[in-house]
Amino acid sequence: MEDSYRHKGMRNLLVRKLAEKGITDQAVLKAIGTVPRHFFLDPAFLEHAYQDKAFPIGEGQTISQPYTVAFQTQLLSVKQGLKVLEIGTGSGYQCSILAAIGCRVYTIERMKPLFEQSRRLLNQMGYKANFYCGDGTLGLPSQAPYDRIIVTAGAPAIPEKLVEQLSPEGILVIPVGDAQTQKMLRLTKELSGHVSIQEFGNFSFVPLKGHSGWN
Ligand code: SAM
Repeated sequence: MEDSYRHKGMRNLLVRKLAEKGITDQAVLKAIGTVPRHFFLDPAFLEHAYQDKAFPIGEGQTISQPYTVAFQTQLLSVKQGLKVLEIGTGSGYQCSILAAIGCRVYTIERMKPLFEQSRRLLNQMGYKANFYCGDGTLGLPSQAPYDRIIVTAGAPAIPEKLVEQLSPEGILVIPVGDAQTQKMLRLTKELSGHVSIQEFGNFSFVPLKGHSGWN
């Protein structure tokens, strides 16, 4: 795994593009400028690694578009030390961005080959995270509560268990909609337990499967 000046240059251009598209969180931009996204793709697809688009990672799944990763991470309002649960590990790229920011990450993937591959890769790259294989729509009650929860697959509705496992003042970011298009939602749990919801535009994710997902 080589991370050359050429790769760093490509990442700097990507960071500039994301800033032009409206990403302002400096910690997010710094993490995107740091994590070698080409490690998450087959070496034959290097040219695709730093384009702002999603890309197939096998098992019918995708590594999310860099803008989507940046947008969701910015909405999540993360900082060093926060405990974050990610549903949908996929390639592990989003997970590594959170780890690079200094979050304590718990990540769940339902497909065993992706779970194994991403765990191995992040370990090689030196990013610390806790990997689980299972149905993320049920959350991870054994480690709850979480300061932040991020869902990186399109849900038909907000999974109740995830809201339950959110700390007071916690934030959940989740795309919710039909199979084609989802609205990005940010839920904030107030100290009283009341949950407020804000909407942030349309996105298109692979489906969230499982108990509170699509069949
Ligand atoms: N965050 C990923 C990344 O950085 O590469 C992108 C993930 S991809 C868009 C969505 C992932 O969610 C897929 O790997 C899919 O297998 C996974 N997924 C779907 N339903 C799930 C569930 N109920 N629990 C855990 N993972 C799930």
